[in-house]
Amino acid sequence: MNLLSVSDVVINYIYNPAVRERFGDVDMVIACGDLPYYYMEYIVTALNRPLFYVLGNHENKVELRENEPHSYPWGCTNLHRKVINHEGLLMAGIEGSLRYNNGPCQYTQGEMWEQVFKMVPTLLLNRFRYGRYLDIFISHAPPWQLHDMDDLPHQGIKAFRWLLKTFKPAIHLHGHIHVYRPDTITETWFEQTRVINTYGFRRMTLPPLPGRDAKKT
Ligand SMILES: [Zn+2]
Repeated sequence: MNLLSVSDVVINYIYNPAVRERFGDVDMVIACGDLPYYYMEYIVTALNRPLFYVLGNHENKVELRENEPHSYPWGCTNLHRKVINHEGLLMAGIEGSLRYNNGPCQYTQGEMWEQVFKMVPTLLLNRFRYGRYLDIFISHAPPWQLHDMDDLPHQGIKAFRWLLKTFKPAIHLHGHIHVYRPDTITETWFEQTRVINTYGFRRMTLPPLPGRDAKKT
């Protein structure tokens, strides 16, 4: 399964009529926040593939389109606080960043813990039903002390780090940390999880997942 992930900045290479040729082999798109709705809608329409997203901290909850309010990206699926099974792929997501100025989609570490804990029963059920808790975790903010920064808005989330350690998803995709230097680390192995800062865009092929891919053959 080929995956395209995007976050934080509109990339002209993608927001482009040639996107279908460039990313025609993509099976699924994941957006990790701080993106305009029109961009996500463009991708979902051009590629005609499912797009799952969480919002970032710079999201306008409402975008004006020809003076009509537009409060979510059409044709895309918001994964915030959800645990889903998409064609055998177990996915979960949490939006936003740490609270620093009471803007939208900002939460304290405590509120992030609460949101993660609410997903636990479904993750346990996944393990019981499919033999795995979770395959892909998506968020806007990074986990605590992985790709994060010292200033409050860019500090990582402690509950995400615990989630990775406990439920061992194959991949955690996040955004929020802008990459300006070529030597910035954007991919880290943590326990059994490949943690990826998808700032801009990334394409990847998912590794075979024990329960899921065995079932197909
Ligand atoms: Zn952000």
